[in-house]
Amino acid sequence: MNLPKGLVEAMLAHAQETYPEECCGLLAGAGSLPTHIYRVQNAHPTPQIFYEMAPQEQFYVFKNMRHNGLTLAAIYHSHPESPARPSASDIRLAYDPEPYYLLVSLQQREAPDLRAYRIVDGAVTEEHIDIV
Ligand SMILES: [Zn+2]
Repeated sequence: MNLPKGLVEAMLAHAQETYPEECCGLLAGAGSLPTHIYRVQNAHPTPQIFYEMAPQEQFYVFKNMRHNGLTLAAIYHSHPESPARPSASDIRLAYDPEPYYLLVSLQQREAPDLRAYRIVDGAVTEEHIDIV
């Protein structure tokens, strides 16, 4: 998938700011390239358990996307202390097969690891990221 450098930097900054808690958010765009980032409050910020986007905030984000002619491109969250791989609960809770699932690992805090996945019916496929 193609990712603008600015969005990559914004996701990494979000992950660093919320460390040691998990951050989460959404990327949206009008075409195949994501252009917008929406930070979403994590309703369950306890590290390592699972993340859940605050439902009310998610509602407003989707409303804003529609208003601006954008569609969901990717769902991101951070793993403060574990690798950038979807956990069992991440896979279980990945209901939507359409977006990319992005993971930022801060296991090595000075060298964050960003990875992209498709998750379809519990099957996880890693996708190459091109920073544009
Ligand atoms: Zn996770």
